[in-house]
Amino acid sequence: MRRKRSAKIIATLGPGTSTEEMITALFEAGADVFRLNFSHGTQEDHKRRFDIIRSLETRFQRSVGILLDLQGPKLRVGEFKDGEVYLKHGEKFRLDLNPDMGDETRASLPHPEIFKALEPDTDLLLDDGRIRLTVIECGDDFAETKVMIGGTLSDHKGVNVPTAVLDLSSLTEKDLDDLRFGLELGVDWVALSFVQRPEDIAHARKLIAGRAGIMAKLEKPQALEHLDEIINLSDAIMVARGDLGVEVPPEEVPALQKRMVFKCRAAGKPVVIATQMLESMIHSPTPTRAEASDVATAIYDGSDAVMLSGESAVGEFPVEAVTMMDSIIRQVEKDPHYRRMLENYRYAPEATAADAITAAARQVAQTISASVIVTFSSTGSTTLRCARERPVVPILGLTPRADTARRLALVWGVHSVQTEDLKTFRDMVVTATRTAKQEEFADVGDPLVVTAGVPFGTPGATNILRIAWID
Ligand code: PGA
Ligand code: MN
Repeated sequence: MRRKRSAKIIATLGPGTSTEEMITALFEAGADVFRLNFSHGTQEDHKRRFDIIRSLETRFQRSVGILLDLQGPKLRVGEFKDGEVYLKHGEKFRLDLNPDMGDETRASLPHPEIFKALEPDTDLLLDDGRIRLTVIECGDDFAETKVMIGGTLSDHKGVNVPTAVLDLSSLTEKDLDDLRFGLELGVDWVALSFVQRPEDIAHARKLIAGRAGIMAKLEKPQALEHLDEIINLSDAIMVARGDLGVEVPPEEVPALQKRMVFKCRAAGKPVVIATQMLESMIHSPTPTRAEASDVATAIYDGSDAVMLSGESAVGEFPVEAVTMMDSIIRQVEKDPHYRRMLENYRYAPEATAADAITAAARQVAQTISASVIVTFSSTGSTTLRCARERPVVPILGLTPRADTARRLALVWGVHSVQTEDLKTFRDMVVTATRTAKQEEFADVGDPLVVTAGVPFGTPGATNILRIAWID
């Protein structure tokens, strides 16, 4: 089953999309990667979804990626006597460690680290920034605040403290448990929420030990100060505009988004644009014009993937949302202006054999109008370098490893297929031509470009480029 586009779609699963029927429908509509959001639901819920996704692979003979998204140190208020309170502008409101139910005067905020980082005049943003409090006075276990922007505050709403670096690891106890659980299941990607420092990635890398790719979610201003280092240490990046747009003013988000996309493209790391992409489709079968334009912008910039959150997890029109994303992407990719934009932002190959071969493969494929570039790569590293070239023709990423094939589902332009372990270059060419035909990328007589490394199985040893014809 071949998709007719290069950019990928990530769909978050939730209560509304957990049956086999629904997940199949989302896949058929265009979801390439499914996100299991561990901020919600139980491990058992996620395991059920995981098993259904894996069963799709056998049914459709296609590698599908699974992204485990860890909640991270998301700060939340406790519960209220009546489930919610109304905070009036100008009134005082106290936050403390007392676990009792809250009311109009106070709420529990069960995170000791936050109180340590507060000072008078620090702003606290609640419920995605809808409510703003300013600290008047604080201690080790409380903060007395003034309501600057009021509103209704209900149980477990999120709290952001944009200006403070909190003494928190990006992995909480819950995250460590969810991570163990997910790695045991065999997820392909792990997303780390609220990354603050490069060390957060290094720490996660030790724990994950190569069993999944690491996607850093950029949603804290502190992380942006170490952007290069974080991109370097991560396997992929998510531009997590939801929390980012609370932590920094929304008008700063577009420029930050572009900075992250272009830095990731230069580094050859997959980059995902997330949150509110088709937000109105949670309740409506069609998006606003501005939303369609937002998805299109992410694609014109050359992002690897666009993501649906609430739209597919709890929305009324999950399949329509995936279908809409699929059509927007295909529409953009047909536009000659899209190609020009990709060419404008092509990054020079680095001084390695793999980059030299890959850049040449892109050029040769374009010159002879090849149907496809076939990459042989066991870890997927050369396939990623090929995607960094943003070639005109699709990339058929062949690998003997099932985990690599699944991880590559996230990557721009790559259709990944698991093959048997091949020993000779001759076998590779035979497999390349057969698979290209079977997966509907080429027909008899079509040329294709093959890259591989000899000796086989040495990561990063790509050193052969060959033109082959389908017979
Ligand atoms: P979330 O992350 O949906 O887990 O909060 C994405 C974002 O903040 O944009
Ligand atoms: Mn977030």
